[in-house]
Amino acid sequence: MKIVVLFGAPGSGKGTVAGRLVAEDSTLRHVSSGDLLRDAVKCRTAAGVEAEGYMKRGELVPDVIIARMIGEQIEKVGGTRTLLLDGFPRTVAQAGLLNEMIAQHGAELTSAVLLEVPDGILVDRITGRRVCPACGAGYHVTNIPPRKEGFCDGCGTGLIVRKDDNLATVKNRLAVYQAQTVPLIDFYSARGVLRRVVGTGPLDGIVERVRQAI
Ligand code: AMP
Repeated sequence: MKIVVLFGAPGSGKGTVAGRLVAEDSTLRHVSSGDLLRDAVKCRTAAGVEAEGYMKRGELVPDVIIARMIGEQIEKVGGTRTLLLDGFPRTVAQAGLLNEMIAQHGAELTSAVLLEVPDGILVDRITGRRVCPACGAGYHVTNIPPRKEGFCDGCGTGLIVRKDDNLATVKNRLAVYQAQTVPLIDFYSARGVLRRVVGTGPLDGIVERVRQAI
């Protein structure tokens, strides 16, 4: 199994780009740590109940919770597929845990793609984000509007704003990114797998650049 890490600030487009890539390539599997956690919260699992408060505050949930979820996904995917990891790891400690999982499964981390987007654009992208609570599709009020305002193109469900997409929490999430995730740049650069991708401009171009990088 090959593993590609997709990282970048909140709002850098990781989920949107990963969604596009997997739709076009059946050998790719998308695993989003944020989606796994939101599902756990929705289903009121023990992990979800514990994670909820951290997520509302825009803090990182404890490593043990998210690492277990990612480990389960790696086991499930197996085989010759390429796993696109979106949102994990988010700290150097998590990157160490991922390396252990990779060794355990005889997998290979082929690239760590950093989506680079200036801060001003990030805030606009996050506060304008809308998601479908039924199928998980993501939209933006101006950049990726649904055909019918407020409703999912795919399944027609009413779109919602994520609980942590408000301005106060967004500022905390950006600060957490700077303090805890930015050190991953040096971590993966030192291992020769870092790929920097410009995450602004038309979505097709961003997707194509990431495709080239992985
Ligand atoms: P995301 O959907 O990637 O923006 O993640 C939403 C929230 O889930 C984050 O603000 C964190 O509270 C939590 N989260 C997602 N991934 C991780 C991770 N790898 N480690 C810890 N917390 C995470």
